[in-house]
Amino acid sequence: MNKTLCALVLAGLAGFAFTLPSHAAECSTTVEGNDAMQYNTDNINIPASCKTFEVTLKHTGQLPVTVMGHNMVITKTDDIHAVDAAGTKAGADNEYVPQDDPRVIAHSDLVGGGESTTFSIPVAKLSADGKYSFFCSFPGHVALMKGTITLVK
Ligand code: ZN
Repeated sequence: MNKTLCALVLAGLAGFAFTLPSHAAECSTTVEGNDAMQYNTDNINIPASCKTFEVTLKHTGQLPVTVMGHNMVITKTDDIHAVDAAGTKAGADNEYVPQDDPRVIAHSDLVGGGESTTFSIPVAKLSADGKYSFFCSFPGHVALMKGTITLVK
């Protein structure tokens, strides 16, 4: 490599480093679910600057998926109960998530004790003036397993 090219590459690298934001938004989080039918948080902050936000759902319990399955479904807060009912109807074969339902903004797989799963939320689908929530659509779990999503700057 000649000297000029080398200098250009170095300048390019320096420029790249310089343009990195000093406090990059955290575009992922981990939420736990347990055998007592609880998530370990009742709110998820999603930076509006993230293109997609990754959530890892970790089932810290031991009960099997058929007894204490957990997932995470993202909907408008007003849609929780209708989507939960539709999920129960969709049944175990569909992991209690209504298929091709536009009210479902994103959802994870259903996991049992000791398992974990990761899914992505398309942040562009969350509008700044909307109210969004997450919940577990395993039948009956929404009573305890739900929380809000806050879009933050
Ligand atoms: Zn659950």
